[in-house]
Order: sequence, then C-alpha cells, then structure tokens
Amino acid sequence: MYIDTHAHLNSPALNNKLEEVIKEAQDNQVKLFIVPGFDYETSVKALELAHKYPFVYAAIGYHPTEIKGYTEKEYKWLEDHINDDKVVAIGEIGYDFYWDTTTKEEQTEAFIRQIEIAKKANKPLIIHSRDAIQLTLDTLKETKASTIGGVMHAYSGSLEMAPLFINENFYLGIGGPVTFKNAKEIKKVVENIDLKYLLSETDSPYLTPHPYRGTENGPKYIPLIVNEIVSIKGINQEETEKVLLENAKKLFKLE
Ligand SMILES: [Zn+2]
Repeated sequence: MYIDTHAHLNSPALNNKLEEVIKEAQDNQVKLFIVPGFDYETSVKALELAHKYPFVYAAIGYHPTEIKGYTEKEYKWLEDHINDDKVVAIGEIGYDFYWDTTTKEEQTEAFIRQIEIAKKANKPLIIHSRDAIQLTLDTLKETKASTIGGVMHAYSGSLEMAPLFINENFYLGIGGPVTFKNAKEIKKVVENIDLKYLLSETDSPYLTPHPYRGTENGPKYIPLIVNEIVSIKGINQEETEKVLLENAKKLFKLE
C-alpha cells in the first residue's frame, strides 16, 4: 500500500468528483493521504476532509504567494488548530519567486511566523520552494527548523544541496517530475540519496507524471512515481513501497 504525502484533495477543482478521485486512488493501493492547505480556505477544507475520512490527514498553512492581506485572524486560526489530532504538519509554506504577487519581505515574515507556530506545537513543516532554494535553506537554519524537521515538497534542488536539507532533518518529496525524460537532476537525486530520506507525493491536481502529462493529476498515479524510484535505484519494489510508507509515518507521526 502507498501513501500520497501531498494531495490537494482540498482543491476547488475536485469539489464535484472527490469521491471518485479517492476511489481511483484506493483501487491503485494508495490508501493514505496528506492534504496540505495553501491558503486559509483550503486549510479549513483540509481539516474538514481529515475529520470526515479516517485515511486523510491535514496540513494547514499559507503558501508564500497567497498571504497578501492576511492579518492576525488567519494566523490565529493556525494557532487554534495546529494541535488538532488530524493536523500532522504546517504547510505548505516557504518561498516562491516565480510569481510576484508578494514581496520577499512579506514571504519571509509569513514563513518564519508559521515555522514558529509549528515549533511551538512540535509538528513538522511541508516546504514549498520555487526559485529560492538557497534562501529556503538559510531560513530553515536560522530558525532552527531542524528541531521539527519536515519535507522539501517537490524537491527541485541539486544533488549537491540535497544532503544539506537532510542535515536539517528534512525529507525530499519525490513526485511526477521524476518520471519526466528530461528531469536529469531529480533522477540523479533519487539515484544517489538513500531511500530513507525520500517521500512519495503527487502534488495533484498539478505535476502529472509521464505518460499522462497534460491531463489532471491524481493520487492514483503514486505507483508510477514509486515504480520510477524502483527502476532508477534498481531496488526491490515491495521494500521500496514499505520504506516510503514508513518514512511518512515516522515524519508525520501517523498511526
Ligand atoms: Zn502543493
């Protein structure tokens, strides 16, 4: 059985077909889901889904491009819900300089504030980092985020940088891009980094793996990602499945 450690079942795009998406995933042995929020509404929704389904866990948090205009109210909501039994992490939070809806200062403030909330509750982080890999590492170090650890969701840094995140107690989230023919660096990461530091994730409905690119992604495609890891590393399928599940259970303290 598999886990999808990053499935946006809270995406408004899935509102009308959520049962179907879950069923298709279960038919493909994907039986556990972590649903990260990216803004206030999707964090509320993630928590709602986690309370509705025993096999869904929530992460709550605000993505760096979504924090514009957020006030005490939104952060208070995080503080009020971080200790919920079904909230397993704060996320997704971090930096994104691909879009320019928020400034570096705004992103830094929101990122650090949410790291502090997670530290207080002793829950790990789900990190989004786009065009900001070094700054992300610097911030994790400065805030001593290693005390809680987490995952570099959709890891897109170099092989050289991977151990630096692992040193800070971060796993590397491996998703659809590992199946892309031209994704040489992430294939190198998977080949060279020990399986015990990797997590399986889809980021659905985004980042659809090969050969379904151009269509909507779903947690049902986790086996494609795991198979790619198996083939790159040349290791045993069942063992890989087992270790990836154990990694997630350990990080997110799932029972
Ligand atoms: Zn995401």
